[in-house]
Amino acid sequence: MSDAHPNSLLSIVAHAKEYGFIYPSSEIYEGLQAVYDYAPYGAALKRNVQSLWWQSMTQLHSNIVGMDAAILMHPRTWQASGHVDSFEDLMVDNKDSKKRYRVDVLIENHTAELAVQGNAVKAQEILARLQELLQKQDLAGLHALLLEEKIVCPIARTTNWTEVRRFNLMFATKLGAQEDGADTIYLRPETAQGIFVNFLNVQKTVRMKIPFGIAQIGKAFRNEIVARQFIFRMREFEQMEMQFFIQPGNDDKWFNYWQQARWNWHLALGLPKDKLRIKPHDQLAHYAKAAVDIEYHFPFGYKEIEGIHARSDFDLKNHEVASKKKMQYFDPELNQNYLPHVIETSVGCDRLILMLLCEAFTEETIMEEEGAKTRTYLKLHPALAPIKAAIFPLIKRDNLPQKAQEIFESLKYDFPLIYEENQSIGKRYARQDLIGTPYCITVDHQTLTDDTVTIRERDSMQQQRMPINILRDFLLEKVSFKTILAKLPSVG
Ligand code: ATP
Repeated sequence: MSDAHPNSLLSIVAHAKEYGFIYPSSEIYEGLQAVYDYAPYGAALKRNVQSLWWQSMTQLHSNIVGMDAAILMHPRTWQASGHVDSFEDLMVDNKDSKKRYRVDVLIENHTAELAVQGNAVKAQEILARLQELLQKQDLAGLHALLLEEKIVCPIARTTNWTEVRRFNLMFATKLGAQEDGADTIYLRPETAQGIFVNFLNVQKTVRMKIPFGIAQIGKAFRNEIVARQFIFRMREFEQMEMQFFIQPGNDDKWFNYWQQARWNWHLALGLPKDKLRIKPHDQLAHYAKAAVDIEYHFPFGYKEIEGIHARSDFDLKNHEVASKKKMQYFDPELNQNYLPHVIETSVGCDRLILMLLCEAFTEETIMEEEGAKTRTYLKLHPALAPIKAAIFPLIKRDNLPQKAQEIFESLKYDFPLIYEENQSIGKRYARQDLIGTPYCITVDHQTLTDDTVTIRERDSMQQQRMPINILRDFLLEKVSFKTILAKLPSVG
């Protein structure tokens, strides 16, 4: 599949900034690489995405509960989880440009170029070698492969490489006021461990029976080396993770179940099937027995948005050993104790937002009296759009603003709305299109006589007249999460 995409990432980045979705962090100081701030509409969109995920996990599954663990955890957590020893990238520096790269990415990019040049067999051979070297963690072999293939630094165009080195991705900081002797602690690189260490607390206090899940939304931090592509790869990002605890031996069944359930969830958001795919992992993370990614076709190619991982009893077992506290579950049906196995679903909230923006960003040529014009709008699902409706008086006199304000007041408890009375009605529609508001309600002179308004739908630009007293029900039906969640096949 080609990487051609109608929307360039650059236009989406520019739109996100210009219309109040995402800003570069600390921009007045020229930004902080791979860190971004959510602007007013972006923050609202993000909240909607999180609420939708939260509802679909906890409200639609009677056996999934939510929690919210702290970002900071005891440092031994990360020893036990394997992150101190194994959560790393293999890096190489070019001595001329002084730039640092992930060695696997350099080699993969090289094979992609070979494939484009029609040398697919050679590319496959190199990829197979890369996998083998990574598996063996053969750093010298990786260095040799770089030289053998004459892979150059994209900036210096030389092969003047340092040795390949390990680089841990966790951010370390100090606990306590004094730097001396203070314990090194880490900003969590994933939310999952907060769930694992609380597994028995939740099971006992909320009286859960296996199989059951714990869902969580929260920040994670990774000192990514190759941080590019806007909010796709950030150093501070948000994960929405669910750990599903099962009886050992049922791993395949639940792994398949969650793959299917999460696939259906993305389709229910309205994403086209032909831009999503499921990809098994070639290389498993240190904790995983089996793993697949759900990938979306971004403007820069197919990339992971969500991982579904079979983690066996890896985490609970390691915490049991490290903490010397029993992590076993007593199964009343089997009358036996065991360490449950875990199937994890882990989706990046920010990657979802980028995917939604890529899908929504639309530029269309429309014909107007003055000639052809480009119309730009965000085709966001109404249930996810930051603002659900804008309310306009047609003009700023004849009591139309008062009437429009009255409608605003009556609907504001149910929906995020915008009231706008300045500029021409066409400009006001255009402005709402740019932020993805699905409905614009206009009060005109007829409203004063028959209590009806016009309601314009964003995508079709069609207008219809509607009595004011049915607006609330109309909007509720269109913007409720139910329009998405009811599309999900029912689950046990
Ligand atoms: P990648 O291979 O792209 O680095 P990963 O396989 O390391 O991702 P996981 O550890 O499986 O990612 O994390 C689960 C999810 O968290 C990913 O599917 C992604 O959506 C999100 N995620 C991971 N790293 C980042 C990041 N640096 N910025 C934004 N989202 C991220």
